[in-house]
Amino acid sequence: MSRILFCIALCSFLFFPHLLMAKEAKSRYASLQYSSQKLLTDFNAEIELGRNLKAFVRKTNIVTVEDEVLVKIDTIIEKAETILEMFPDQLHMRIVLLENSADVARVFKEKYGKNVNYLAFYSLSEDTIYISVDDVKLAILAHEIGHAIVDHYFKVRPPYNVHELMAQFVEKRISD
Ligand SMILES: [Zn+2]
Repeated sequence: MSRILFCIALCSFLFFPHLLMAKEAKSRYASLQYSSQKLLTDFNAEIELGRNLKAFVRKTNIVTVEDEVLVKIDTIIEKAETILEMFPDQLHMRIVLLENSADVARVFKEKYGKNVNYLAFYSLSEDTIYISVDDVKLAILAHEIGHAIVDHYFKVRPPYNVHELMAQFVEKRISD
C-alpha cells in the first residue's frame, strides 16, 4: 500500500471512529449502526417513550438492550407515520449513532463541506439519520424520522421548507 493510500485509510478511521468496529442491527423499518455497547445503552436511556408508546413496547419480547432499542425505534416510526398519515411502502432507513455533536459536525463537513452545529441530521442521498447520543431526545429522533418518512412518501421531493415543517409536526406530536 502506498503511503498516501495508507494515510487515507488511517485518516478515515481517525476522523470517523464510528466506522471502526461498527455493529449493525436491523429492525422492520431501520438499520441501526453503533460503535460500542456504551453508546447503545446511553441512547436507550435517553429515548424515553411516553405512556402510550411504552404500552406498545411492553407487549413485545425484549431480551437485550439492542432488542429494546430496535422495538423503540419501530414504535416511534409507526407513530410518526400515523401523525403524518403517510405510510410509504417498503420504508427502511439507516440510523447511525454518534457520540456527540462534534461527531455530527465532522460527518456533515465531510459530506457537504459545511460547518454546522446540528445535534442530528437526515441525509436524503443516503437515507440515513446521523444523531448525537449526548444530545438525543425522543423529539429530536422523531424529527429526523419525520424527514425520512416524508422523503419515502413523495415521488417528487417537496420544497425544503415544507419538508422541515412536516418534520417539526412529528417532533411536536410524538409525545401526545
Ligand atoms: Zn429538520
